[in-house]
Amino acid sequence: MSWRLSVDPGQCMGSGMCAGTAPELFVLDGDHARPVRERIPEDDERALDAADICPMQAITVRDAEGREIGPRE
Ligand code: SF4
Repeated sequence: MSWRLSVDPGQCMGSGMCAGTAPELFVLDGDHARPVRERIPEDDERALDAADICPMQAITVRDAEGREIGPRE
């Protein structure tokens, strides 16, 4: 089972906080961040942490069924 990561380029302001927090999962690519890989093994807390700290809430983490699980409330 895997989780799916996405970054909305329309929301991302390129702060780089996600790449700093979880460089294995996110990389800055020009003005915006993107996931290193769209699919990651599930239960990777670093993905949720990065989604939580994104100041623009540009990161979405979805579970294997497509439910949005990050950012957390
Ligand atoms: S933390 Fe959010 S706003 Fe900053 S680079 Fe990552 S996705 Fe973009």
